[in-house]
Amino acid sequence: MRSYICVTCAVQQAAGEAPPKHCPICEDERQYVRQGGQSWTTIEELRLMDHRIELRELEPGLVGVGVTPSLGIGQRALLVRTANGNVLWDCVGYIDDDAIAAIRARGGISAIAFSHPHFYGAMVEWSHAFGGAPIYIPAADREWVQRDDPAIVTWRGTRELAQGVTLVQCGGHFDGSAVLHWADGASGRGALLVGDTITVVPDVRFVSFMRSYPNLIPLPADEIRRIVDRVRPYRFDRIYGGWWDRVMASGGIPAVKASAERYLRWIGARP
Ligand SMILES: [Zn+2]
Ligand SMILES: [Zn+2]
Repeated sequence: MRSYICVTCAVQQAAGEAPPKHCPICEDERQYVRQGGQSWTTIEELRLMDHRIELRELEPGLVGVGVTPSLGIGQRALLVRTANGNVLWDCVGYIDDDAIAAIRARGGISAIAFSHPHFYGAMVEWSHAFGGAPIYIPAADREWVQRDDPAIVTWRGTRELAQGVTLVQCGGHFDGSAVLHWADGASGRGALLVGDTITVVPDVRFVSFMRSYPNLIPLPADEIRRIVDRVRPYRFDRIYGGWWDRVMASGGIPAVKASAERYLRWIGARP
């Protein structure tokens, strides 16, 4: 029995004797099955192909966790370090002993949570490597879990995972799409970790909001307004998107407001 990983999205499936026929994540209209058809790999195969985890210290208390060479959608996860436990925000489709040792040296992982299902990666492998760390999945997205595990805990609304580190369900891209507010980030000015819930675009002075990023399916005005409303109670200056180069260094709150207004204007809605 092996737990296969989809080559396109890098989300790991439940163990089976043979690779699954389908990846429900990629067959959904928000993703895509790559040209040439569905294909699968495994952690062992990726290790033989010289994949490794790359850690980068991004600011005090925050470590980026990526895969080199790039895997699946190419996202990097983030490890938020606190005095009472570290939170892994989003995940990747690979893990190895070097990565486990390097993260243990930084205090390990006491909770795993996500912006959305495209970044579930090999979450169960990561949980098992760190003592069965709880995996927080919004109840609204429970159906998108591909490999079930007793470590999975469902939540809705908001949830504080460590002091000053709070999950906030926003919806939009997925019903359970969430952001992580880190009050101590950006030298105490606050940081918002967003994945694809509020995506930092290549012009990093702005963000955007989509039902599907690869397939360019927009969101309706009510969803945009709701996402902005959900983050309104939180103070933040910096915004960390889902990729190494998608970081808005400062001005987060006015940028979210201006970006939402621009979007609403272009879909013909009032701001
Ligand atoms: Zn897939
Ligand atoms: Zn996505």
